[in-house]
This record gives sequence, C-alpha cells and structure tokens, in this order.
Amino acid sequence: MTVVDSRRGFLRTLGRFGLQCGALGWASELLGQVGPNISKSLEHFQFDDSRMKSRVVNGTVLTTARDGGLLVLGQDGRLWTVEPQNLKSREPLEGEFKPWDSKSMIRSLENELVRGCEFVQTRHYLVATYAGRAYAQWCAGLFERLYQAFRNYWKQRDVTLRDPEFPLVAVVFKDERQFRRFATEDAGADAAESKGYFSIESNRIVIYDLTSSERSPATTMAEIVRSVSANPFNIATVVHEATHQIAFNSGMHVRLSDNPLWLTEGMAMFFETPDLTNRTGWRTIGLVNELRLRQFQNYCDKRREANSLETLLSSDRRFTDADSAVDAYSEAWALTYYLLRTQQASYVRLLRKLQEQPVLQWQTEAERLEDFRKNVLDDLGKLDADFLKYIRKIKA
Ligand SMILES: [Zn+2]
Repeated sequence: MTVVDSRRGFLRTLGRFGLQCGALGWASELLGQVGPNISKSLEHFQFDDSRMKSRVVNGTVLTTARDGGLLVLGQDGRLWTVEPQNLKSREPLEGEFKPWDSKSMIRSLENELVRGCEFVQTRHYLVATYAGRAYAQWCAGLFERLYQAFRNYWKQRDVTLRDPEFPLVAVVFKDERQFRRFATEDAGADAAESKGYFSIESNRIVIYDLTSSERSPATTMAEIVRSVSANPFNIATVVHEATHQIAFNSGMHVRLSDNPLWLTEGMAMFFETPDLTNRTGWRTIGLVNELRLRQFQNYCDKRREANSLETLLSSDRRFTDADSAVDAYSEAWALTYYLLRTQQASYVRLLRKLQEQPVLQWQTEAERLEDFRKNVLDDLGKLDADFLKYIRKIKA
C-alpha cells in the first residue's frame, strides 16, 4: 500500500517557485509564519493560478518573493502561489484576516463542488459528502476519535498542540470513479490512483465511500461498520490521511516548511495501524503495523544497503521514486516505531527543532543529517545496528 500525498507535487511547485524567485528571495522577506496567533491584514486578490485559471480570493500574504511573487493564504485555509506576471490586482480590505467559519466554508464548497453534495458537521470537522449522511457521519466519528487520540498521545509526551485555525474539511465521493475524476483535476494522476489523499495546498482530505464497491452499498451505521471492518487496511488509508491533516493543522508540522518525508509519513503510519480486534478497525495507537513490518523485513533480507538509514534521513528521493517508495515507507514506519518506543525524548527534540524551521527554506542533505545527529544520536552506525536488532525481535 503506497500512500500518495499531493504534498509532494506541491513541494515541487513551491521549490520551483522559490528557486525562480531567487534562492535569496524568501529568507529575508517572510512576513509571517503560517500560524493563528499573528495578526494579518486582509486583501482582495485577482490572479491566474498555476493552471492559468482565473481566481478571486480574499486572503493574506504570507510571503513575498523578491520578484513580487506571492504566497497567499485564503480564508478557507487554501494556499496559493501567485507568480508576479499572473497577478491582476491586489487591494486592501477593511479588517483583519480571519479564517472562515463552517457556514462560510459550506457556502464556498457549494459554489465549487458539483451539485448533490450534503454537509455533516462535527466539533472539528466539516464533511462534504456525495456518499450519503450515514457514511459521512461514520467518517466524522472516526476523525474526531483520531483527533482526540492524537492530541492525548502527544500531550502525554509533553508535546502541546494548538487548536486548528480552520474547520477541518473532508470531501467524500460516492465511488472510486467520481473520486478519480475530481482527484485528477485537484491533485494529479498519482493522487487519483490512491484511495484518498490529504492536500497541503487545499488543506482538505479527499476520499470515497469504501463500501461502494459492494453489490448494495451500506446505508445504515451498522451496515457501514460491518462493511468497512471487513477490510481494516482500507480504514488505515483514511486514518493515514486524516493524521496528516491533524498534524498539519495542530502545529505538529508546519504546512510550508521542509518536513522530511520519513518523519511525516512515519508518523501517519504509526497512527494508521489497523486494529483487527476492534470492530471499527481502528482504535489503538502505536500497534505493530504488520503490513509495513513485513515489507521492511523483505527489504532488509533482499535489498537494504549499508547506507539505507542515511539516504532515508537525508533526502525525500526514495519516497518520490516509484521503484523505492514502498521500501522507504516501510523503513520510515520501522524507524518511527523504534524511536517512539525506545528514544522518545530524542524524537520529540527533533520534532521541536523541525517545528521552528522557517517556511519555504529547503535544507541540504547534510543539514538534514546534522539535525538528526544533533537531536537523536550522532553515531548513525550504532543507531542502525540497534534499530535493526530491535525490529528483528518483533513478531509479525
Ligand atoms: Zn502519507
């Protein structure tokens, strides 16, 4: 199971954008971090987006590049990169930037999405659904449980998280076909091949009704629970994407900083682990992820090279290359599991360091390794030996 996040594409886009604007451009001109506690001015923008589609957005500028390129945060939480030649107008509005509440978010989604979608709202989530209310309610229930479990888990480890700035939006399509059509346009071909994704750009989870391939899709809560629990690995995908969304909306990761993929993916896989003893398919955090463990064992037996840890930590390349992605994901899970079980304080130290990184600044491979060495363990050879020894003892 390879999980595709549209994040990768977005990082590439921003990387290009940053480079175009000059490597020196972003650092000195950051106007503010992507956080809720900094007052920001509200402006009205008209521009063509990266696909040359005309856009009208009320939002705030997070970063200005030297050539006039803008990074704009919309009131719905969407991030826009605006090339200077594509900016048509920019005017100040009265008042400060404020994230939309659910009511405004619903109005905007109704305008954007094709007709026939209903809305289900819970404390933190807004689910736009083409799959009926019962399925959306099941999703929202799962998301809220995950939200609480995620925060509790980190609170017990002295990591304080903030409340999300925006309502957490999930779009649920009625079946795979409808999902693919939307995903191709929204996040590209890779995302359309997945069972769901979280987009750093739009800040939303996009999924589809996992019961829809059955002869008669489930309509009551009891039928839904029976159907989804027959395949907990499907639920794992949904939990995985929802974990990314919570992590990027609670200050765990910052949406536009250089988060190493081994860390963000490792964390999502640590939380996604299906719980086969529970009737809803997910309840407990930090169980052994058997699918990832088996893959990692296979990798160790057949393909793992001596510098595997180093290549995993220093670059995202193994995750973005289709031939090595499955092994890289499995190693990221195994390393996260090992660190959280045996070296929690060091892992949390590294997390804190990454949370403080400036946005839109890309680290070199050497800098990434240095961060890990400084905060976790300097001797990578020793860490590798201890890590493999620990993982070998786990029974699949
Ligand atoms: Zn992921």
